[in-house]
Amino acid sequence: MRRTAVILLLLAFLLCTTGAVGAKDSSKVVITANGKKYHRPKCHMAKKYVKELTVEEAKKLGYKPCKICKP
Ligand SMILES: [Zn+2]
Repeated sequence: MRRTAVILLLLAFLLCTTGAVGAKDSSKVVITANGKKYHRPKCHMAKKYVKELTVEEAKKLGYKPCKICKP
């Protein structure tokens, strides 16, 4: 039983890391006019975005990552 849990954890970790690597090429994020979060351009919360910028720029401006699209 314990071994299964470890394997599952390992799998989850691997999925997370590969996801992070995959997100690297799409480092462009968008911000909305009155939101305090930055989003991936495809996020349904950011359909009417006003500006496109990099994650670093968004962080510098005080924006936080969206919890839905996890940019
Ligand atoms: Zn979003």
